[in-house]
Amino acid sequence: MRGMRVAMLVVALEAVAALFLVGSAWAQHGNGTYSESNSMASDGADKLYVLYCGQGHTEGQERWSPGVFVGKPIDISDNCYLIHDNASGYFLWDTGISDYVASMPNGWQNGPLLWTRTKTLASQLAALHVDPSDIKLIGISHTHPDHIGNAELFPQTKIIMGKAEAAMYFGPKGFVQPTPGDPRPTFSKDHPLIKADEDYDAFGDGNIIVLATPGHTPGHQSALVHLKKTGWIILTGDAVHLQGNWDNRRVPAMGGEPDDVGIMIRKLQTLTSMQRLADLISFYHAQLWINHEMTQSAKRKMSPEFYE
Ligand SMILES: [Zn+2]
Repeated sequence: MRGMRVAMLVVALEAVAALFLVGSAWAQHGNGTYSESNSMASDGADKLYVLYCGQGHTEGQERWSPGVFVGKPIDISDNCYLIHDNASGYFLWDTGISDYVASMPNGWQNGPLLWTRTKTLASQLAALHVDPSDIKLIGISHTHPDHIGNAELFPQTKIIMGKAEAAMYFGPKGFVQPTPGDPRPTFSKDHPLIKADEDYDAFGDGNIIVLATPGHTPGHQSALVHLKKTGWIILTGDAVHLQGNWDNRRVPAMGGEPDDVGIMIRKLQTLTSMQRLADLISFYHAQLWINHEMTQSAKRKMSPEFYE
């Protein structure tokens, strides 16, 4: 009886889940099931560190703004975010470009993008006296090299990734792109994973919700973080790359042919995901932290300083 009642409730709750994501009595788990979770409201994580995870340069930003700013060079930031959740410990969002790039004198020219790193993720964690084994969970936005470069610095830590992203990256047509000369293992199919097919409440307390924001890649994710003093922050991953793209709802070029249905669907998903983030911003009065927007990153307090 109770099982049936729960099932009916789940159907009803799914319809309003987007609006009452946090603090509701339901949480989705990686296996796609729902269960009753604590009914407390999210009380906020205590610290968020912004870690420098590399930077990129390209001679033309039209890859992100087709037809606009053609041939105009741009520098982009690449950050990782370390969150300390009072009850549950450390959570890392994205792992940046490989630490190995810090040892490459000319950086890594990967197609039109030149990646450089002035300091490693490992050294920034060490400066905080955080051992890689202290990280309880990792969330990744997607599987491009500027986000998964150091996944295997944490071989024991479960990584929350989109189910569709895992199917793509670890599938037969997977596109693993190691840094040239990098002796470190790239993100391995043997890594312990949590494959999320919808939003995922990382620690079950509503303080860090990994959001399904497909488009840029099939299983792309963003993160909604609640901090005690600062309030709500959305970490975009690459759901949006630049402030101008956000303001104008620009969708990046994605390669492929103009009539490629797969590309068209991903562009539509990108727009839908941007609108979803806009709705969450309104609902939670959240800040939007655009990972690759250098002008935003330049204003951030960087680790060892932190947000509370
Ligand atoms: Zn990126």
